[in-house]
Amino acid sequence: MPRKTLKKRVSLAGIGLHTGKRCEIVFSPCQEPSGITFLRTDIKGASPIPAKLDMVDSTIRGTNIGRGENKVFTVEHVLSACSGLGIDDLQITLDGPEPPAVDGSSLPYVKLFLSAKISSKENQQSEKMEISRAVEYEDDKVSYKAYPSQVLSFRYLFLHTHPLVSRQESAFIFSQDEFISQIAPARTFGFEEEIEQLKQAGLAKGGSLDNAIVISKDKFLTSEEGLRFENELARHKLNDLIGDLKLLGCNLKNMTIDVKCGGHKHNVLFAKRLLENAVVTTY
Ligand SMILES: [Zn+2]
Repeated sequence: MPRKTLKKRVSLAGIGLHTGKRCEIVFSPCQEPSGITFLRTDIKGASPIPAKLDMVDSTIRGTNIGRGENKVFTVEHVLSACSGLGIDDLQITLDGPEPPAVDGSSLPYVKLFLSAKISSKENQQSEKMEISRAVEYEDDKVSYKAYPSQVLSFRYLFLHTHPLVSRQESAFIFSQDEFISQIAPARTFGFEEEIEQLKQAGLAKGGSLDNAIVISKDKFLTSEEGLRFENELARHKLNDLIGDLKLLGCNLKNMTIDVKCGGHKHNVLFAKRLLENAVVTTY
């Protein structure tokens, strides 16, 4: 399978969900088989940050990669769009600390990449990850299980004490079309009761009803007419998972990944376990 990148350079601008800072993000084709890298152009002499598991810095309400000041926050929605479209190599530059939240989903990035068109690099082979037996990860109420399967598929079970969203489930067999129509449009969310607390902790500073679903005591607050999917929260959690697993740096194949109540921190720990137990080959 040839490695893929974009055909041409594309960009968008907007404010980051957590930092609230405005940023222009530019995606440029990458002729080398060097994976996905982020470069902060607002930090003089900053080195590129590879989108790899060992570069994860923190996972509070998002996946942040980098070292010290040279950090990029909330990379998962951009990475999910890369994963869903099978993009292996991409140079991403930003003039701020966090990709624009846009509408809170990966869809704006998917559309942007489709507008640039995907290019196959015929002389470079992509890498795939497979497992020969089940890989499990558990922590209290959280569980992850990957097992060998004919196709790549995902299932996520969301459980919460809030009565409006006490149980949501989402499952899908991976294909580019299914990803684009069923997973990428699902938006990020937060609970009204925790917003003040998040802001005090320096998070969700750019959050608004334009880029997140807010769950109040008895209804969903959104700038759109209701939810995009009845189980939009569970779908968004799958989108986050797919984005975080892109940090493996290869394409997952032939496995079913079944998750209960996971989030960024556990996504990353599960990905590390997967890496230890999987075989990566070119194809
Ligand atoms: Zn998310």
